[in-house]
Amino acid sequence: MKIKDIKIGFLTIPYKKPFKTSVRTIVSSDNILVKVITEEGTAGFGAISPTAVITGDTKGAIVGAIEEHIKKNIIGLEIENLEEVMVRLNQSLVGNTSAKAVVDMALYDLYGKLYKAPLYRLLGGYRSELVTDMTISVNDPEVMARDALEAVEKGFSILKIKLGKDSDIDYSRMKAIRDAVGTDIMIRIDANQGWKPKEAVRFLRRLEDLDLKIDLVEQPVAAHDLRGMKYVTENVDIPVLADESVFSPADALKIIEMGAADLINIKLMKAGGIYNALKICAVAETYGVECMIGCSSEGLIGIAAAAHLAAARAVITRYDLDSPLLRNEDNVAGGLVYTGEKISFLEEPGLGITMVEGVFND
Ligand SMILES: [Mg+2]
Repeated sequence: MKIKDIKIGFLTIPYKKPFKTSVRTIVSSDNILVKVITEEGTAGFGAISPTAVITGDTKGAIVGAIEEHIKKNIIGLEIENLEEVMVRLNQSLVGNTSAKAVVDMALYDLYGKLYKAPLYRLLGGYRSELVTDMTISVNDPEVMARDALEAVEKGFSILKIKLGKDSDIDYSRMKAIRDAVGTDIMIRIDANQGWKPKEAVRFLRRLEDLDLKIDLVEQPVAAHDLRGMKYVTENVDIPVLADESVFSPADALKIIEMGAADLINIKLMKAGGIYNALKICAVAETYGVECMIGCSSEGLIGIAAAAHLAAARAVITRYDLDSPLLRNEDNVAGGLVYTGEKISFLEEPGLGITMVEGVFND
């Protein structure tokens, strides 16, 4: 299967309700899709949602990276020589992990199609079902309590609570959520870099009074403040998950060696795709550190790529793949099956995408 061309398409999907974190509020998700076509006419798909406030990669920069750098490096290569394709993809330009990720997904989709196997089986096949958490956007305490209760009533047993906008109000938010859903629900907290190190420690210790089942706290302080991350990690019992602090395998190695986090959040858009994410898995496995797989606001294709990786590798023990549930998507089908909080796989080759309509003008 020789790579013949890469086509780029765009898709905007409205959220059911605004998605709010401490760094942004969005009402719809803009997606860039790619279709990598082989000379035999087989197509592999990838999709990402540009998130410049996290990655720095704008829509224009991603398209430019693919058109001007990636295409000339990988067109003409054989999918069966996956290592060569991935080395060339990653050498195409520095940075722009979003552009690399979206093409990487489509290449792995083709790799699965070449060997007629679902991707998660080719990559290790460790498990065939995942349980995702459900994100509760940061809002007034009563709104968050209502959203949390709604999610629990829909069957979600793990909630990811977005905080990081004033730690005093954050405490009221957590108390309101506890009063609404009780203490049996597993809670993940994501501050999206919103606190100072000492503020984070004070807040997280104060939370202990609420007797909640807290699985982890995600990125309590600024991404670059690894000493601050280490300070929080050393001073609270709740496991600290590094998200914005870890993009690359080298970042993962550094943060683990420093003892600046207990867990690593892998996102394909930060890592530059599955190829680099596998290296993060290897680093984490080496040190006995568990990983979560996360997402931004990707649709089904991007989430399918993340889910296939997560199912393949033992070290990925936590799943934050709820974005397809927060929006309605009519242009894409296949990949994954959501049954409440459970995610399973179609036993189709590659990522298992069965339909992409109205995106590539063909
Ligand atoms: Mg996060």
